[in-house]
Amino acid sequence: MRREQGLQRLRRVFPLQQRIGALAPPARAAYIAILSQWVRGGRGRAPKAPATVLQTLAAMDAIVIGHDGIGCYPFSARNTGIAVLLNGRQVYAMCAIDALAIPALMRQAGQIATTCAVCGRPLTLGTDSEGNATEMTTQAEVVWHDRQTHLACCGESLCPNIRFVCRSCATAPDAMRFTVVDAAAIGGAFFAFQRELLTAS
Ligand SMILES: [Zn+2]
Repeated sequence: MRREQGLQRLRRVFPLQQRIGALAPPARAAYIAILSQWVRGGRGRAPKAPATVLQTLAAMDAIVIGHDGIGCYPFSARNTGIAVLLNGRQVYAMCAIDALAIPALMRQAGQIATTCAVCGRPLTLGTDSEGNATEMTTQAEVVWHDRQTHLACCGESLCPNIRFVCRSCATAPDAMRFTVVDAAAIGGAFFAFQRELLTAS
């Protein structure tokens, strides 16, 4: 139940799939181009698309344009402190749930390297190529602080509130806590539409 509630909540506060589904063809094509760059191992450079299309995608928070490149959920162009290692390559995830979704999206086993949001201790987790958590899952959990913010971009408002913590570290009483297995299932379901988009393109 916790898993279902988490997924519903994430889709409500950040209806990414719905927004992408409503895009006009040129914007959808640009979105797929940026996403597939990340999935194929690139770094989120601007595709051959009019600037207005990129602005549209950024305005609806489907992508995040920054100094380090173009982030595309679940991939962050800037260092968020949540690294995912896949086959010798490192990418950053927007948040803890996103990190758990990246290996399945890239169809590779992944190692997540981050620190506890409470005590700062290093945490490492493994997932297989289908996104199932495989290692160290009993030592870490995912915390979601439901803080109200008025920042438009999910990467700046929602994402910093969804982090890994040690299972033994206490968090605010109103914060939601998920097991790594449940958080991985939430991430897998939330981003499943991207795999379909990439397969269809
Ligand atoms: Zn800790």
